Amino acid sequence: MHARSWWMSTLLILVSTGVLLIFSLVTLNQVETIYSTNTARTIENLKRQFLYDTVNNQIRRIDAERSLLQTKYQNELAVLEDELLLESLHSESYMQRITEMAKRPSLKEWTLLVWDKNSGALVFDNQHEVQEPQTRIESLNRLLPLYKIHALHTNGSYTVFFGIAQDRIDEEVKQNIAQEIYNSRYSEDSYIWVNEIKNYAGGDDYAIRRIHPNLRDTVGMSLSTKMTDIKGGTPYKTELEGVKQSGELFFTYYFQKMNSTVISEKLTYAKLYKDFDWVVAMGIHLDDLSLYIDSSTNDSNSIVKRYIPVLITSIIALFLLHSLLLVLLERRANKQNEKILLEQANRDTLTGVGNRRYGLTVLKNAFFTYKKEGKPVLVAMFDIDHFKHINDTYGHDIGDRSLVRLTKAFQQVVCSRDALFRWGGDEFLVVCPDSSEQMISALAETLLATARSTMLASEGISLSYSISIGISSFHPDDQSEEQAIKRADQALYQAKKLGRDRFEIDW
Ligand code: GH3
Ligand code: MG
Repeated sequence: MHARSWWMSTLLILVSTGVLLIFSLVTLNQVETIYSTNTARTIENLKRQFLYDTVNNQIRRIDAERSLLQTKYQNELAVLEDELLLESLHSESYMQRITEMAKRPSLKEWTLLVWDKNSGALVFDNQHEVQEPQTRIESLNRLLPLYKIHALHTNGSYTVFFGIAQDRIDEEVKQNIAQEIYNSRYSEDSYIWVNEIKNYAGGDDYAIRRIHPNLRDTVGMSLSTKMTDIKGGTPYKTELEGVKQSGELFFTYYFQKMNSTVISEKLTYAKLYKDFDWVVAMGIHLDDLSLYIDSSTNDSNSIVKRYIPVLITSIIALFLLHSLLLVLLERRANKQNEKILLEQANRDTLTGVGNRRYGLTVLKNAFFTYKKEGKPVLVAMFDIDHFKHINDTYGHDIGDRSLVRLTKAFQQVVCSRDALFRWGGDEFLVVCPDSSEQMISALAETLLATARSTMLASEGISLSYSISIGISSFHPDDQSEEQAIKRADQALYQAKKLGRDRFEIDW
């Protein structure tokens, strides 16, 4: 039974350990997946933020550059106005001065127009801006919206217009910005590129590549929304639709890495700068994400490596605990069995009271206590009268039933539950510690009366009984408990001899 329960619980532990192991591994695997997914997501978000910030900064730089140049030319205009005013004082050489001024390299972007006020004829046009035969009014009406920075003067017989075309300022802005972008270096080999949209409807030649640090020799090339990337996607179409819809977008496509032949997925952010019809974009390759994820997977692998010894230790500890528990349980079961066996060894099987062996033990203990404390102990032996006759007349079975019936009755009246013992056959021992001499006859009379009043009725017969009792006690000079037994036995013999159903005392 023990071997079976051992194997059963071992099996149980093995199964639960297996379940634990599988559960742990699945959990670890999930942790790993979540870890790498989160890492990938975090890195991608960082990259997105980087792209968004860089492109938007660049667009702010365009605005800044524009207002810078605007201010610069505004200031130049103020200086020029002063100069022209000064020149007007020398009216005889005015036209000559104007011609010379227009030749200055610093003014090569400026437009200078002079009309004869009286004839309305155009007398000076350094940039060939006026389209003959437009009149002065017609020309000015056309030009003024194109020149945010300009001044109009009348000087004697001349009307003078001077200013700088907004297109020229913007062109300078674009060149400066292009220079700035080409000179910029960003982390992870990323760069900004610019396409200029010519036709928002898309199609062939919908845009021109304006700035592209990675493919500089392709600057100026026409772009088509039909162009595909290496995997068949149409990034230009996606980009155009995105900026048309919301002015900006994130998208991915496949592209060659800078200074390399490697092709990888590129996360891109593009934003429309409407004033220039520029799409300012920046991309970053995503293939390095796997590097980050691999390193984070390595991290969690080392977690697994650290976890496995812990797991094995736990399993061993579990086994030890389980063995210890079984040993303890077995020991407890043994103790209980021992107790039951001992109990069985001390009981008389027929009547259930203590047997001779137990009676002797109790008697020995009582003698030991008596020797220590000196308190009187009653030792009585009694025997059923003419029991042989009962056996012989009614059979052994009725004899047995008589023994059981009488024992039950005596058990009720003796001094304690542990005071009555079957000494053998129809003979019984009674041991009552702390018994005074006065109690003797009372106990003896009670036992005699109990025997007399016990009846057994069976199959038409009715039996009654009597007993004979011999009573003694320990004496101070007794060497062993046996001497009291002997005296009680002799008293019993006396009682039998003197006619039975009585008691004799040898105190
Ligand atoms: P006395 O009055 O002198 O005691 O007469 P007695 O007939 O009782 O004689 P004794 O005590 O010597 O005989 C005891 C008898 O008890 C002997 C035996 O047949 C019977 N006996 C002993 N043990 C058992 C038992 O377990 N069951 C039955 N039925 N009879 C038993
Ligand atoms: Mg007898």
